[in-house]
Amino acid sequence: MNSFELKWLAFEITPRCNLNCVHCRTNASMNLKDRLGYKEIINVIDEISKEFKPVVVLTGGEPLLRSDVFDIAQYVRKKGMRVGLATNGTLVNERNAKEIKENFDVASLSIDGSSASVHDNFRGVKGAFDATLKAADLFKKEGLSFIINSSFTKRNQHDIENTYKLAKKIGADAWYMFIIVPTGRGKDIFDELISKEDYREILKWHFYLELKEKEMFIRPTCAPEYYALCDMEAKKQKIDFKRRNLKFSTGGAKGCIAGQKIAFIGYDGEVKPCSYFLRSAGNVLETGFLEIWHNSKIFKDMRDFQNYNKKCATCRYINVCGGCRARADAYFGDYMAVDPYCFV
Ligand code: SF4
Ligand code: SF4
Repeated sequence: MNSFELKWLAFEITPRCNLNCVHCRTNASMNLKDRLGYKEIINVIDEISKEFKPVVVLTGGEPLLRSDVFDIAQYVRKKGMRVGLATNGTLVNERNAKEIKENFDVASLSIDGSSASVHDNFRGVKGAFDATLKAADLFKKEGLSFIINSSFTKRNQHDIENTYKLAKKIGADAWYMFIIVPTGRGKDIFDELISKEDYREILKWHFYLELKEKEMFIRPTCAPEYYALCDMEAKKQKIDFKRRNLKFSTGGAKGCIAGQKIAFIGYDGEVKPCSYFLRSAGNVLETGFLEIWHNSKIFKDMRDFQNYNKKCATCRYINVCGGCRARADAYFGDYMAVDPYCFV
């Protein structure tokens, strides 16, 4: 087995969603229709399980809108893989919380602010915040591990620390702070993106938080330069910084592992190195997933660090960072270009 083993697969089983988030990569809406049927989904699961045993995260859109979501989850488990549910939480109730606990190993919920006003503004629907907190409470009662994912732009960056505190208060196993990459509806919010200067300051804040935080797992996501910053800060402060391993991790101590350990399958069957990636490497309805994983140009490029832009290729942090290829593509139309957020 080479070092590019699929560890984590995000499978977007529906483009339908009951929310209207400003940054949505899928441009999800209740007006869209599912493209992949149950049979097509389990065929892909079957194929992947022959070679890899990744954690398969069912996502969307809102995956709970699919009536066969539990059947799909059961099938993933039957094939010897762990299965996660990425939900906005608004459709979780007393009745289905039990079923979610029975069928999933972990769930993730999105909370983008510490109050209803911040979160609901970001998510585009009033009441979303309260519903998501209720879902967290139900998961806690059922004993299901859950992760809080929080996405930030200029609109809510003032609330980062309080959102972390909230995730801790409600008993999340992990809190992942996402730095938004402008794709999908996110494309319209270039002006809202966190500035490069603030990005660095936020990562620095996170580093010192990670040194103190011993209960909940925390990790900035889609912020590969964090791995460079940790090394720089630790050296400056002469700290021996050891990262804890996450229970449900996308695997590896590297900033970006898109196409190296993780992959994404869109609701239309398009396969991408990660969920924020603009370009497709192939479609599971035409080509097998494994063929795309092993032989498509995009996936091969993602692993070819020496052919990244010169700045990255010659950087001492290439093996722990690598830059965000999706962000490079969104800004420069070239996923091998330098990450516009690189401050090293
Ligand atoms: S390419 Fe960028 S958006 Fe995709 S996983 Fe890597 S860091 Fe995240
Ligand atoms: S040059 Fe590339 S690998 Fe080095 S820190 Fe910047 S983005 Fe990361």
